[in-house]
Amino acid sequence: MSSKRDRKKRERARRLKTVRKGAKRSNRLSGPELLQAAAEKARQRAGPYLRRGPPPGGPARIVELADEMRELALRLMRHSPLHGKHQCRPGCAFCCHTAITVAGPETFAIAKYLKEHLAEEELRLLRRRLDENAELASSLTRDEYIARLIPCALMTADGNCRAHPVRPIACAGFCSTSRAKCEAEFNRVPDRAAVPTDRFTMLAGLGVSNGLMDACRQAGLDGNFYELHHVLRRVLDTPQAAEEWARGQKVFDGCLR
Ligand code: SF4
Ligand code: SF4
Repeated sequence: MSSKRDRKKRERARRLKTVRKGAKRSNRLSGPELLQAAAEKARQRAGPYLRRGPPPGGPARIVELADEMRELALRLMRHSPLHGKHQCRPGCAFCCHTAITVAGPETFAIAKYLKEHLAEEELRLLRRRLDENAELASSLTRDEYIARLIPCALMTADGNCRAHPVRPIACAGFCSTSRAKCEAEFNRVPDRAAVPTDRFTMLAGLGVSNGLMDACRQAGLDGNFYELHHVLRRVLDTPQAAEEWARGQKVFDGCLR
């Protein structure tokens, strides 16, 4: 019994060592190892941001935390064996017609960016689109929502992301080596091949997001994922959202998960 525990301990130590040596080695990990290692790294990085309270670091600190998590995810993603082979380009947005879930701290960074970069009229229009998409998300199942190919409210008319530098980690991790196959999927072409997504970037992103949520829960904060439009609308409408969240208040109550 104890030898099984020891083996597990050794295995965990080996994984952590691999990650601590840097992301360079992360493309040698299996899928579950990468997921766990990315989560462990995110937990370590997120911990200090969430320990300085009360409130734990204040709103600016929470936005910094989101930035740090995104940077970590992007750094890990660069070590994908498919790095450099993605056909993702500005203006390519077949994948931006789906359901997106985000972690709370990510939304504070997105809202800050939008307030700083969009004109008042653009923000007003965006706010209306958030309402429309949030209502659809509430009235449809997730599968129905995806099947309807609803454009993300953050997508511009020319297929760019209004919040690209701070886009959700889930979006950054969704990469494909064939734009043509993404287009065929979008157009529901009969007998189409599967979209060749990069599993590495997806798992690295998911691992970091999971680690971030674990760290939030350990600090007694909301560690749930939420539907993008619901939660972004809430943050834009709540002037002290980050501060209240950092105090442990239920800022996202009622938002779709
Ligand atoms: S995943 Fe596909 S649709 Fe999305 S940006 Fe990449 S190539 Fe374009
Ligand atoms: S947040 Fe940006 S990248 Fe993600 S789905 Fe929306 S428009 Fe696309």
